Amino acid sequence: MATKEDFYKLLNIDKNASDAEIKKSYRSLAMKYHPDRNADNPEAAEVKFKQIKEAYEVLSDPKKRSAYDQFGHAGIDPSMGGRPGGFGGAEGFSDVFGDVFGDIFGGGRQQRSSAQRGSDLRYNLDLTLEEAVAGTETKIRIPVLVSCKVCNGTGAKKGSEPVICTTCHGHGQVRMQQGFFSVQQTCPTCRGTGKQIKDPCNACHGDGRVQDTKTLSAKIPAGVDTGDRIRLSGEGEAGERGGPSGDLYIEVRVKDHAIFTRDGANLYCEVPISFATACLGDAIQVPTLNGEVKLTIPPETQTGKSFRLRGKGVKQVRGGAIGDLICKVKIETPVQLTKDQKALIEKLGESLSSGGKHHSPQEHTWVDGVKNFFNNLTG
Ligand SMILES: [Zn+2]
Ligand SMILES: [Zn+2]
Repeated sequence: MATKEDFYKLLNIDKNASDAEIKKSYRSLAMKYHPDRNADNPEAAEVKFKQIKEAYEVLSDPKKRSAYDQFGHAGIDPSMGGRPGGFGGAEGFSDVFGDVFGDIFGGGRQQRSSAQRGSDLRYNLDLTLEEAVAGTETKIRIPVLVSCKVCNGTGAKKGSEPVICTTCHGHGQVRMQQGFFSVQQTCPTCRGTGKQIKDPCNACHGDGRVQDTKTLSAKIPAGVDTGDRIRLSGEGEAGERGGPSGDLYIEVRVKDHAIFTRDGANLYCEVPISFATACLGDAIQVPTLNGEVKLTIPPETQTGKSFRLRGKGVKQVRGGAIGDLICKVKIETPVQLTKDQKALIEKLGESLSSGGKHHSPQEHTWVDGVKNFFNNLTG
């Protein structure tokens, strides 16, 4: 049902109107055709209102507006690839006003049913790296508001029932005059529930919920990492007066590990090796999360070199390939040397410096660099 009237005329604006002008005009026209102000002829007002809304939807959207400017109504015809269902369908006034005036009066549509959904809860769960990688099943105790057993969550004393609210007659909403135009507000007496409890339950003081703790067992899938959340549907706070429960979110935090650090699917660790191993090469044992594996250190390995052990990392919870373990070797300078050991190292040092070969590649280039630096200064 596309309106055939000119959208600019409908909104009382000219073709060059700014977005602010469009919005301003739309709001004043929407107020003019508000059902409360047209009680004598609400049907005509509704038709007019829908036309204005359709015009606003097009002109407030730069893409649709430019299509409309170029092609007129054909440019925004739903059958020409626009929004399915067209504009201004079967929405009632409440929907329309919720969209438009929600930002003015703050809050948009109010919940009319007396049963309110409970809040979601968050629980921080600390895991070891091993638990996070392998997955685990854990029991958690959480403080929760649960439905009151004494009154079955109604909030009314046993044997009594909530009665219809006398202020709003059960609607949960009251009309308030605000300037020249009336708005619906949540009933202050029953806070929107439409019911009043004359004789509140002693256990929950009429709230329908009581504070308790509950123990849940939660399955933590393998591969989770810090910041991942696991949702336990319906395990949050109980709803008010028999409403549905919220959800519980378990937020994972992985504790620091003594050996490994994790980055996504990869694990990193630092492996100290002896001076002799670094010189001559050797096969050493390195730890992984599934036990030790052999790592071959080639002869003449420099400190800081990293070795990649494929597939010894982590399989992430969202899938993908198993990561790698990256071992960075660190050569340790021997300490607590005996007299004999010192003599041997002295001998080795003499041999290395008199052989005519460059046994220390980094030191050699570094010394050359320092020489050049001074030559450039003096030259
Ligand atoms: Zn109760
Ligand atoms: Zn009320």
